[in-house]
Order: sequence, then C-alpha cells, then structure tokens
Amino acid sequence: MAAGVAQAQLNTTGLQMRRIWGTANDDLVCEICGPLNGLPEGEWSGQFGDGPPGHPGCRCFLSLTAQDDDVVLPDAIERAEERVVMLEELGKEKEAEAQRERIAQLRERI
Ligand SMILES: [Zn+2]
Repeated sequence: MAAGVAQAQLNTTGLQMRRIWGTANDDLVCEICGPLNGLPEGEWSGQFGDGPPGHPGCRCFLSLTAQDDDVVLPDAIERAEERVVMLEELGKEKEAEAQRERIAQLRERI
C-alpha cells in the first residue's frame, strides 16, 4: 500500500509518521467507516489491519501525519460532531448514536 511505503521511508528519517483513516465524508459513507474518519492507525489497525478498504465498495483512503494524538484526536472529534449533525438531519438516528458513542470514547483519551 502506497501510504505504508511512504510511512516506512519517512520513519527512517527519524520523523515518526502514522497513518490516518480518511472517508469521503459525505452522506454515502457507511456506518463501518464513518466513525473512523480522521483517526490514527492505533484506533483501527486491530480491526482493519493495514486500513481501507473496510468493506467491498469502500471509498476510504489513508493519509500520513507526524502530529500527536493531542492534535489528531480533537480534529477527528470535531469532524465526527459535524457528522452527527448530518446524520440527524438525514434521520439516521442509529448511526448518529453510534457516532456519539465513538466521540465519547475519544474524549476520554484527550
Ligand atoms: Zn470506507
């Protein structure tokens, strides 16, 4: 995977890069991937290994960051809160609830 190769190369320079899961961040993003948007690999590698695709037809991608969790997680939470609003507007209450639970878990870590 391209992001994995770039990560390995950058890590040899002493810059510790981590992979970040990115979704298309629109109303078609599924309930599997939606809560993963913006999260560093420690949050999803146990379940998804090297990352996307999370399921057939998955449009997700990886990006790299050198930033710590104290920067990455608040950013992910902010985007997750925007997603809750969107899901509520669409009437997807169950998905909104799952996303709220994920936000609560993330908040405990920062
Ligand atoms: Zn996906």
